[in-house]
Amino acid sequence: MTETYDVIVVGGGPSGATAAEDLARAGRHVALLDRAGRIKPCGGAIPPRAIRDFAIPDRLLKARINNARIVAPSGKTVDMPVETGFVGMVDRCEFDEFLRVRAAEAGAERVTGTFTTLARDADGTAVIEYEPKAGGPARRLRARMVIDATGARSDLARQAIPHQGHPKCVFAYHEIVKAPEGAPTAMYDPMRCDVVYNGKSSPDFYAWVFPHGETASIGTGSARKGFSLRGSIKALRKETGLDRFETIRVEGAPIPMKPLKQWDNGRDVVLAGDASGVVAPASGEGIYYAMLGGRLAAEAVNEALATGDARALALARKRFMKLHGRVFWILGVMQFFWYRSDWTRERFVKMCADKDVQRLTWESYMNKELVRKKKAAQVKIFFKDLAHLLGLARA
Ligand SMILES: Cc1cc2nc3c(=O)[nH]c(=O)nc-3n(C[C@H](O)[C@H](O)[C@H](O)COP(=O)(O)OP(=O)(O)OC[C@H]3O[C@@H](n4cnc5c(N)ncnc54)[C@H](O)[C@@H]3O)c2cc1C
Repeated sequence: MTETYDVIVVGGGPSGATAAEDLARAGRHVALLDRAGRIKPCGGAIPPRAIRDFAIPDRLLKARINNARIVAPSGKTVDMPVETGFVGMVDRCEFDEFLRVRAAEAGAERVTGTFTTLARDADGTAVIEYEPKAGGPARRLRARMVIDATGARSDLARQAIPHQGHPKCVFAYHEIVKAPEGAPTAMYDPMRCDVVYNGKSSPDFYAWVFPHGETASIGTGSARKGFSLRGSIKALRKETGLDRFETIRVEGAPIPMKPLKQWDNGRDVVLAGDASGVVAPASGEGIYYAMLGGRLAAEAVNEALATGDARALALARKRFMKLHGRVFWILGVMQFFWYRSDWTRERFVKMCADKDVQRLTWESYMNKELVRKKKAAQVKIFFKDLAHLLGLARA
């Protein structure tokens, strides 16, 4: 008879590895199934809150960013220096493996293979079928609970909660290039992230240049069918002079833009991370939210196992949305509104020059909390927003 795990976590990215580690530390018998062999396409920017909450060691930070340069359609730029702290840059190949190893050290059993099917044994227990990486026949693992952390457009999510479609996605594409060496230039600075807003780079999102120590990620995203992401990056590399540097990898992946309405099947499966749609709209930031989603899924599963009440699985979504639902909603409105034309983008970038806007943006990004104490600044920003929106402030 096949062994039965308390929990099988499917997908060993930031979300799944965090969930597996937390459950193992809580004393659960856990398997972490990951297909391995593919580096997740990602800009790799993480906030101090992620470093703090998930004990990310310094050695994983390839760069510490202290400035964001926002580029308007007209070519005007606004610098947003980070006054306290920095944005950490990780290499996803190394970062994800570190998290998986840490989960294994905590007691999770690592299994390498590709999930194919969520089946049921005669007694109704969940069975995860997968193809082992090493080859050979398909294998089965039984589990009392399953966490789906297989990322955006998850097959497992579709099988577990069939009536629910996939969340709306932006498709993101980036090229990893060898980073320019020597002193910083106007075009490239190893301590600065460039964020480019214009319709030719992306009609509905933004393009970026993110330094990673010896390499840099230059990418863009769009939900618009037919928009040439490769064409956009080719042009941006030419404009920034990054076309003269060796291309190391080119890759792309979908980024979900809205949390799904339902994260669990009311029985024994709960979604976490990109599989549940938790990437911040407007910015596309997903690593911190994936790790938090993994942690909350682990907590919910632990409670369901302890009480025998599967309704506890719904707590993962409830707790996440309580913490971040409002910010996601605000960012969604921002993306819809400011990213719609070059006229609005120009005004958006102009607004970023405001010191209050900069302070609030960085504080919210760094700590993942809306800054409540600065009510007066928020009111001021609201009226400034309105002035930019109505064209009363000069762009
Ligand atoms: C181009 C791009 C740039 C980005 N830049 C940033 C950024 O700078 N900062 C940021 O915070 N976020 C960024 N994001 C978003 C971020 O990458 C994701 O939100 C984050 O990786 C989600 O983590 P996850 O663990 O939920 O899923 P993933 O990281 O997608 O992990 C899923 C895991 O599941 C495994 N898996 C998938 N299918 C199967 C299967 N069938 N069987 C077994 N295993 C499977 C995969 O191998 C992988 O290990 C970016 C995304 C893209 C596409």
